[in-house]
Amino acid sequence: MAWWSRTQGLAEQPKKSVPKGIWTKCERCSTTLYEEDLDANLKVCTSCGHHFRMPTEQRIAMIVDPGSWQEHDRQLESGDPLGFRVDAKKYVDQVKGTTKKVGPGDAYRAGTATIGGISCEVGFFVFEFMGGSMGSVVGEKITRQFERAIAHKRPAILFSASGGARMQEGVLSLMQMAKTSAARSRLREARVPYIAVLLHPTTGGVAASVAMLGDLIIAEPDALIGFAGPRVIEQTIRQQLPPGFQRSEFLLDHGMVDMVVPRPVLKKTLERSLRWFEHGRDPERRTGTVGDVVDLPETD
Ligand SMILES: [Zn+2]
Repeated sequence: MAWWSRTQGLAEQPKKSVPKGIWTKCERCSTTLYEEDLDANLKVCTSCGHHFRMPTEQRIAMIVDPGSWQEHDRQLESGDPLGFRVDAKKYVDQVKGTTKKVGPGDAYRAGTATIGGISCEVGFFVFEFMGGSMGSVVGEKITRQFERAIAHKRPAILFSASGGARMQEGVLSLMQMAKTSAARSRLREARVPYIAVLLHPTTGGVAASVAMLGDLIIAEPDALIGFAGPRVIEQTIRQQLPPGFQRSEFLLDHGMVDMVVPRPVLKKTLERSLRWFEHGRDPERRTGTVGDVVDLPETD
């Protein structure tokens, strides 16, 4: 017993000695990482490959070609149709406060950009903004993004990181699941490709709608992806869930996602996929030119 407590005491020591803002401890392997190195490695642990959450601004810079990002609809703001309050705090004030901290545009940022020289309509859930929850503004911005994609015949790409629908907007936020899915089906009718990239975490109403409807569904390693949380499911079905349940790799094994792609090769993978879709629409260029991406699934 004495040995045990002494070991515990030692294990706690490094925590205290890590100064904030310079060093960070890996959540998975506990290695102490120099923050500058972590940023340079796209917020992926150099020791175990754990993917830290990446701020949206940094992710946009990582994905789109430098200087090509033209953002749309950043001025859109949430209304407060229900006059919602939590602990006497008004929903409108909550949105205002978050906008001040995170920046305008609610929990979704969409723009036109090039990726590997190919023009596309790209959108990113902003997890920093109220857990990336999908309310009316997010739904509207995704819909407009898809409409622009159809109008200009540009592929649409969506990066999801969300806790689900925004409960402060009640049924109006649930309606966004139908609205975005309908907009997505118009993309399909227009034969415009749609790539969904699932980040940690993609859950609730976002997972149950637009995020899982990609022609190609890519996930970052070890991302939590699912509708309800594992504890709720276990309590409902009264069974223990298998290890790794609702993680990217498990979903890949069970055919729910097409690829699990580590962040350092994500942009290259998107470029290859976009080229594949481009050639796929032109039968003459389809054969013999895309040998490196034959493992990608066929579109409809
Ligand atoms: Zn690590």
